[in-house]
Amino acid sequence: MSEVLQNSISSRDGQTFVFDTFDKVKTVFESQIANRQNVKNRSAEERKDKLNLLNNEILKHRTEIEEALFKDLKKHSIEAGYSEIFPTLSEIRNISRNLRRWMRSNPVKNSLPFIGSKSKILLEPKGNCLIITPWNYPFYLSMTHLAVCIASGNVAILKTSEYSPNVSKVIKEILSGVFEEDEVAVIFTGAEVSTEMPKLPFDHIHFTGSTNVGKQIMKNASTNLTSVTLELGGKSPVIIDENYPIKDCIKQIGWGKFLNAGQTCIAPDYILVHKDKKDEFVDKLSTYLKDSFGEKSTDSEFLTGIVNKSHFKRIENLVQDAVSDGNQIVFGGKMDKSRLAFGPTLLMMNSSAAIMEEEIFGPVLPIVLYNDVEDAIKFITKKHKPLAMYLFSNDKKWLNEVLLNTSSGGVCINDTMAHFVQTYLPMGGVNHSGIGKSHGYFGFKEFSNERAVLKSYIKGGITWPFQFPYTKLKKNILEILIKYF
Ligand code: NAD
Repeated sequence: MSEVLQNSISSRDGQTFVFDTFDKVKTVFESQIANRQNVKNRSAEERKDKLNLLNNEILKHRTEIEEALFKDLKKHSIEAGYSEIFPTLSEIRNISRNLRRWMRSNPVKNSLPFIGSKSKILLEPKGNCLIITPWNYPFYLSMTHLAVCIASGNVAILKTSEYSPNVSKVIKEILSGVFEEDEVAVIFTGAEVSTEMPKLPFDHIHFTGSTNVGKQIMKNASTNLTSVTLELGGKSPVIIDENYPIKDCIKQIGWGKFLNAGQTCIAPDYILVHKDKKDEFVDKLSTYLKDSFGEKSTDSEFLTGIVNKSHFKRIENLVQDAVSDGNQIVFGGKMDKSRLAFGPTLLMMNSSAAIMEEEIFGPVLPIVLYNDVEDAIKFITKKHKPLAMYLFSNDKKWLNEVLLNTSSGGVCINDTMAHFVQTYLPMGGVNHSGIGKSHGYFGFKEFSNERAVLKSYIKGGITWPFQFPYTKLKKNILEILIKYF
């Protein structure tokens, strides 16, 4: 299992991976500064060529990616394909298809006082970027954010997680087949160096990870007023409308929650079920979980492992505390610490507990009962705005009421997770669950500076009525502007 040593980490499969030093970071940083204007000047075709190469390198390394995901997280190869490789390729291809259009400058409208001029928005590359990614979808999150970053014309340092070292190694191999280090470099390092990196004068930092680290990043980025995108986590709720057939939502919820052993930023964190549907919901979800993972879930090949010992202990403590606070395990609760296997667990909540305060990020689903929709809304809005929200209902009025009275980064209705991989939707949180948006055009904008450009075609400028000296004519023009524009 992975364990941080002083200048290295030992992985789950017993290998030692040495961390990059801060000196290495600074060297790469300087070389990228020197190269950023060249990269900025690249045409759409040149950028698309790079994306194509990246696409091909990923396909070439498909088996190595699957093996690395198994070594780091015990991910099943089909899950690795669906949740990491396919969405990465799909994002790269989508960017490539649309890049030329996204790079075009956008003319804007002129109101009457601006007649005699033309205005447009230029999306120019921000410059040198830092991308920091977590261990839970270590391939997908690193490669998609990197792809849109370079498509936007930037140079980048990608800082991958120390807890997915095998995947980091494959990523490095793939990227070295496409880029020189003065364009894209992978840094593999521990907490100490990671903390220093956002203090360097990057032009943009894109961070995916926990809310607490996100706050530190923002604080450190403020040293140089570096702009940030923060893709964070939170407690994403599910509400099932009292009138929605339970049988129609079980698979989506069971899959969405227990995919990657619940270690997914947008995983349903807890579920609000109508009090009259309690038994039916627990029965049907328990049956689905038994059918999916077998009687001994900890032995199932479909169950992804927990990333490391301390994360396992944290989830175990949350469950134990909840039980000692009077809440009840109604399914599962099976664990095999030696293999870091934590079986899917359902917890019926009767009283408050720490598990309802922090993001669970593990295969435990607390079930909270509600009386009416107002009750459910109140429960959600007492917490920070979540990253995702899952609603199961066919009733437009019910859906509108929930949407109107809550807020979240994204919403998925009658399904789970799907909105995240729909590349034409923005991905991101709100306040505690994140700042800024990623994916497709939204990611392209995030890595670009929206530069406002106005060109005057009038001799002396369109500003002539505002210029010195202030005459009677200019006063009259001012009165007309105030009255009519
Ligand atoms: P984490 O915040 O501990 O670490 C994320 C990354 O930040 C890692 O690469 C880590 O090495 C680095 N890091 C740690 N401390 C740092 C510091 N002080 N300065 C700079 N970098 C630092 O998160 P994690 O445990 O790797 O991932 C789990 C969290 O990520 C969960 O909260 C989850 O919800 C969130 N997440 C969000 C998304 C999203 O798209 N919104 C996706 C996946 C995961």
